[in-house]
Amino acid sequence: MADIQLERVRKMFGKVLAVADVSLHIKEGEFMVLLGPSGCGKTTLLRCLAGLERVDGGQVIIGGDDVTDHPPGKRGIGMVFQSYAVFPHMTVFDNIAFGLQMQRVSSAEIQRRVGEGAELLQIQQLLARYPAQLSGGQRQRVAVARAIVMRPRVLLMDEPLSNLDALLRLQMRGELKRLHHEVRSTTVYVTHDQVEALSLGDRIAVMKDGTIVQLDIPDRVYDLPATRFVGSFIGSPPMNFLEGTIRSSNGARALETAGVRLEFHGVPARGRDAVLIGIRPEHIAVERVAVAGGIPAGAIPAAVVVVEPIGPQKLLTVQVGPSTLKVTTPVDFAVDQGQRVWLRFDPSRIRLMDPQTGDAIAS
Ligand code: ATP
Repeated sequence: MADIQLERVRKMFGKVLAVADVSLHIKEGEFMVLLGPSGCGKTTLLRCLAGLERVDGGQVIIGGDDVTDHPPGKRGIGMVFQSYAVFPHMTVFDNIAFGLQMQRVSSAEIQRRVGEGAELLQIQQLLARYPAQLSGGQRQRVAVARAIVMRPRVLLMDEPLSNLDALLRLQMRGELKRLHHEVRSTTVYVTHDQVEALSLGDRIAVMKDGTIVQLDIPDRVYDLPATRFVGSFIGSPPMNFLEGTIRSSNGARALETAGVRLEFHGVPARGRDAVLIGIRPEHIAVERVAVAGGIPAGAIPAAVVVVEPIGPQKLLTVQVGPSTLKVTTPVDFAVDQGQRVWLRFDPSRIRLMDPQTGDAIAS
């Protein structure tokens, strides 16, 4: 096991800056997820770490050793990729044993380690089979076992679950989590699947355009997105955004949207007037009946555009002025398309962003 230090790592492909001076410290035993949309540079960063790409600048330090100029085989890493890359003409046993045989490990030790790896991945009963006789999930487990038995200082995984169907993904995700708990190898895991990232990561590095835009534990990435991009990328449905205004009256500053003054305690003391209000669907309460005498204080009038039952909840699409928001309600909340409802934002969950830059505003 080892920690990883990426220092201002840069990678260009012609004129494309795929990784733009990324610095990242991954602790020993940590499960770090690199998360971002297609083309953000996460695979390239992983490949730079593995030594499969030569960096154009910066340093890669694993366990205190500067491995920037070392070939992949000399970095003490194990790798698992999206395509299972198991050898079709070898049994599961031989596939798992392959790296150990290349290192001329004794056959007794190979037996022991393959047995151990197969047990960890729960594929002991498959050792005599060939890959063609395995399901996708089983093949992927073979690939993970093959990497693990080498006892790498660092385990790198690039979208290892993306070829699996939804149910298998869910199952393998749980197994990878259990495995990490048992083995505790320093792991770097690339995915574009935010649920996978939230579920597996000790920390998540959210990437965009070759840079890390937020590095944090999953709860904070979800609850306190650093930018509009992070709020929109993480969460299904994603965070809602609508225009807001900060108005001063009688020396106090208050947040308004759609002409409604919101209960919110994080209004910045000075500066900007126009803001972007970020709020997650589950942090908006929906009321059906207006209080007699007009608009209930602090509630935002909205029109229901779409009603979707999604199993445990209902997902509503509602219109507030020019903004379309997604909100969730209990499944038995009776509401029809076209109906007027009232929204109440949980004041502790509102996240203000700068409408120009999309960066969160410290409150
Ligand atoms: P995906 O999820 O689609 O794999 P990614 O976030 O892993 O995306 P990268 O594969 O790292 O993104 O690509 C980052 C950028 O570098 C993209 O603009 C991509 O087109 C470019 N790129 C990646 N590999 C090469 C290459 N071998 N030659 C030229 N450009 C490349």
